[in-house]
This record gives sequence, structure tokens and C-alpha cells, in this order.
Amino acid sequence: MPRATPLADPSLDQRALDRLRTTFGHGAFRGNQAEIVRHVASGGDALVLMPTGGGKSLCYQLPALLRAGTAVVVSPLIALMQDQVAALRQNGVRAASLNSSLDTQEAGRVQRAALAGELDLLYLAPERLLSEGTLGLLSRLGISLFAIDEAHCVAQWGHDFRPEYLQLSALHERFPAVPRIALTATADPQTRSEIIDRLALGDARVFISSFDRPNIRYAIVDKDEPRAQLLNFIQSHHPGDCGIVYCLSRRKVDETADWLVARGIHALPYHAGLDAAIRSLHQQRFQQEDGVVVVATIAFGMGIDKPDVRFVAHLDLPKSVEGYYQETGRAGRDGLPADAWMTYGMADVVQQRRMIDESEADAAWKRIAGAKLNALLGIAETAGCRRIPLLAYFGEASGACGRCDNCLDPPQTWDATEAARMALSAVYRSGQRFGMVHVIDILRGKSGERMQRWGHDQLSVFGIGTDHDETTWRAVFRQLVAQGLVAIDHQAHGALILTESSRPVLRGEQSLLMRRPRQTGRDSTLRKRANRRGSASTPPGHPPVGAAPTQGKALTSARPQHDALAADLLNNLKAWRLAEARRQSLPPFVILHDSTLIALADRRPADLQSLGSIPGIGVKKLERYGDALLAILTPPPP
Ligand code: ADP
Ligand code: ZN
Repeated sequence: MPRATPLADPSLDQRALDRLRTTFGHGAFRGNQAEIVRHVASGGDALVLMPTGGGKSLCYQLPALLRAGTAVVVSPLIALMQDQVAALRQNGVRAASLNSSLDTQEAGRVQRAALAGELDLLYLAPERLLSEGTLGLLSRLGISLFAIDEAHCVAQWGHDFRPEYLQLSALHERFPAVPRIALTATADPQTRSEIIDRLALGDARVFISSFDRPNIRYAIVDKDEPRAQLLNFIQSHHPGDCGIVYCLSRRKVDETADWLVARGIHALPYHAGLDAAIRSLHQQRFQQEDGVVVVATIAFGMGIDKPDVRFVAHLDLPKSVEGYYQETGRAGRDGLPADAWMTYGMADVVQQRRMIDESEADAAWKRIAGAKLNALLGIAETAGCRRIPLLAYFGEASGACGRCDNCLDPPQTWDATEAARMALSAVYRSGQRFGMVHVIDILRGKSGERMQRWGHDQLSVFGIGTDHDETTWRAVFRQLVAQGLVAIDHQAHGALILTESSRPVLRGEQSLLMRRPRQTGRDSTLRKRANRRGSASTPPGHPPVGAAPTQGKALTSARPQHDALAADLLNNLKAWRLAEARRQSLPPFVILHDSTLIALADRRPADLQSLGSIPGIGVKKLERYGDALLAILTPPPP
């Protein structure tokens, strides 16, 4: 039942802006936040598609403060809910949550506060929503709006599917006059239409933001010695930083975490095979301590709300662009520079193809899964900007970003038509029964017992490929497999076989341009970049907030003294924040975000008024922490 659109309220925009400044300490709206807030605050339904870190929370939190009554927020994870509530309370907003972590007494207190009209926001776990008790409570509340966070949880084919979310449409039937706002960072069109369908949001206005994450720098390196490459990446770019390392299997998670710990990295494993208590302990340490690296399977996912994750590394290829984008999207939610780094090689292609081929699913599913994988392989293999195909996948056109590995250090391409012909021919002549290593040995004319046994040293293709080294041949085969010009026979121990598409290449009718493997196999791009900018967490190289930190340009400072002082101050501020967080049993970022601390250290406000103009410091935080911060920023003269 669509509601009439209420009359425009000219003072609404001003009130929204005032609230944004006084309560949240932000100077201006971002992207289409202002429009969304206006629409929802004046009673419209909305579906908001915004990337992680885009600022979705404000889109319902502000309308909740601008409308009379209590906003009911449905959020799938208790940890996420608790952080949100804590952050709101820090800003002086009257918020509480009802979830299974509360005992009866605490729950009773929250319910009484809600009924007394003392809550602006009430967070609810979805499994509670439709219980008689909750519905009874809701029917006695003046509800200002329903916010449905992580709305993609209704999508049945998505990896975050929550059956309870399907019942959310019942809420609308029961309270048809209450406006609703559904929010998600999942961008693909199928998920979008599933959300609209299942939540009956057909009349809602859809707000789509750009899905670009300009502060994330994408890099995909040729897999050589993945763990050593990872260690090198962490040590040279993110020492002491908080990050996530994704692996495909539980065993690899455990092994990688152990290996990193043995080399001095503060790493913790996380996967579904670990004891629930250990899992939650590791998640908690990640959330609450500085500089923890979690090594995880994709089981480590939706609950991660940490704004200062400085890198996400993949040791294995994800299944799809959606997966890659969602996982890498957990980096840099605070808008400061962050890295999405992946090692990628032939084994990844083989492994993912195999998982699809050997799955029990029907042909239609396999076709879709294959297409999704191919889209990701296209991004991994491209010699051009990574961001262009990445955003194109979500229907967004863009130009070269100037910040990914390929933009910063464009890979060489070469005409591989002839090499590809040789490769395919060697596969064919040896009977399509051998894996890559052996076929490369044939091409490179490596004689030996195996060659003689199979008579392969007698083949016309034996030794025709000595012009290229082994690394180059590996890259050739990987790209052939990635493009579907060669297939893998999983039944025959990974033998290479020809496909329909091989024919035109074999006949020389199709020319192929390929990317040359990078010389070292190590991440030379990043190293160059590191020399220019220092680590993301080291204050001296850190761009001052507001100074376009995302441009990836040279950041050598002209103010060494200022920087040394800022670094000192930042350390002191962090130490103070950690103590304060411990005192209140809250994660540090709930007290103040890194970006706020960096701005403080950089601008060194000397009185309460200028302190209040620092982003992230609203009226309440000024009142609460102003004096303590000034004491750190302006120490008394000796
Ligand atoms: P999402 O839920 O979309 O991932 P959040 O709502 O957590 O993102 O916001 C991400 C970060 O951006 C938070 O640190 C938040 O304080 C900040 N933020 C949101 N809106 C603004 C704004 N208008 N100005 C400055 N910072 C903002
Ligand atoms: Zn680029």
C-alpha cells in the first residue's frame, strides 16, 4: 500500500545538517546521503545501495533523530549491533538493542525504556522480530521507521542468506504506515531485484551510489612463493597494521597463521572448524586490539565492522567478482588508504575450475559459476587498469584509476600468437594426457627418463619453445586456461586438453596479446610505491586528512619537524584511546576513529572550539573527551 508523499519541509534540510554537525561531528553529507535522509525523514521508502564504508548508517540514523518516535533497526549480527549502539551512545544518541546476549532483566529495561519513549533507535536481531513478545512491544511503540541493514541477507543464493530475513515482509503487512529503508553493499542486479521482491519494496525509491572505493588500491601479483610474498608485503607496507588474509581451506588458514606468527606477525586463525569460543575470541581481539592480522576462510565475513582494516590479502582466488569485491571491501572503511592485494597463479584457476566441474549442481548453475569465475579471471589477467573491469561488472563505467598496480606500473604485453600455437600443439601432440609441467618440458626440450619413456623427445614440438623461459611459458598456459583456450581434465590428474575455442588459435586464425610476467614475481610495484609514501600506518608518510589521501601520489613531506611531532602526538592519542576503550569495555574505534586522531595530530587544535571542528567530534564527544584531548595536544610548558 503506497503512502502519499508528504509535503516538502524546507527546514528539514537545515535540521538534518545541524544534527549531522552537532551529533556526529561531520561537516557535510557525503554522496547522496543528504537526499536519502530527506526522503526517508519525510516518510518515503528507500532501498540504498552503497559500498562498504560509504556511510549507510547515517542514512537511517539521522532520519531516526529527525522523526518522532523510535526507529527499529534490523541487523543480522549481534556484534555489529552492539558496536553501532555503543557508537551512537558515544555521540549522545538514545539507542539500545534487544538480542539474545541480554538477560531477562536487561531486556526488560530496554523494553521499558522503549515504551517510555526514551529511545531514538532500537536495534533488533531478526530472529526476535516476529516473536509474539516483540510484536506486542512494537504495536505499543510509536515507530518512526524500519531500517533493514544488510538487506542482501534476503537473497537466497547469496552467501549471507538468513532465513529469518524472509519474514521481514510480514512486518510491513503489520505496520503498513511505517516507512522503511533497506540498505546493502551488495551491488549486483539479481540481488537488488530479490531484495525489492522479497521485502515488497516495489514502490521504494532506489538510491544507487558509485561502488568505487577510491581509497582501496588493488594489486594482483603473480604467485611465486605466496607466503613469502605475503610476508614481504606485510613487512614492507603494513608493519603493525590490522589486516585480513583470506585462504580457501581451513588447513591453509592454520598453517599460514602459524607461519606468520613464527615470523613475528601478530596473526590469528579464523575458520568454521575452530571451536566457537576460540572463534569469537579471535574476532574480539581483531576488533578490540591494534594491529591484529586475522588469517581466515570466508567464514570470517559479515560481522566485521572494523573501520581501520588497512589491508585485505588473498592467498587464493575467490569464486567471483562479488566475493572478491565484498572481501576486499572490508579494507579501509574509514576512507584512509588501504590495500587489496592478491597472489594469483595457474593453480588458482585449476582449483576453482575444478570445484565447479566437480560440483553436484546442475548444468545451469555450473554455467553461471563458470561465467562468474571468468569475470574475475579477466580482472586478474588484464594488462589495463583493474578498476575498469571491476566497476564494469557492477554496471559502472569508469576511466583508468591511476592507483592500481597496473596503472602505476603498466605490465608489458606481447604478441603471443605464435607461442600459444606452439603450446596448444604440444598439448595435442602429446595426446592431451599431461599436465603443464611436462608440456613445458617438451617445449623447452628437456630430455630425461620421462621424455624417453613416452617418446616425447621424438615429437616435432620437442624443443621448439627454447626462446621463452619457464616463467613465460607458465604465464602463457595460465592465460590460455583463464581464457578457456585450454581446459583441465580433472579426472586425468590435471591433464591439459584442447577445447572448441582452441581451434582458431591453433590454426593461427586468432591472434593473442598476453601480459608478460613481472620480472621478480615479487611485488615490485608496491615496493616502488612504498619508497614514495611510507606505510599507511606510519604518520610521517601519512597524508593529512582532507589532502586527497587517495591519489597515491608522492607524499614526501615538506614539513619534517611538523611530521615528527604529529607522529608523537598520534602515538600518545592512540595510547589514550586504548586506555579509554579498556575503561569503557569498548572497541577503540568506537571512542574515536583513526581519521579523527590523525586530524587531531595534524591540526593540533588548542582550544575547545577548534577541537569541535575536527571531523568525528560532535557536541557529546567534545564534552566527554575535550579536556583530555587538549591535555595531550597542548602539554603544559615545562
Ligand atoms: P557503511 O555502513 O556504509 O559501511 P558507515 O556508515 O559505517 O559505512 O560509515 C563509514 C565511515 O564513514 C564511518 O567512519 C563514518 O563515521 C564515516 N562517515 C559517514 N558519513 C560521513 C560524512 N557525511 N562525513 C564524514 N564521515 C562520514
Ligand atoms: Zn587502475
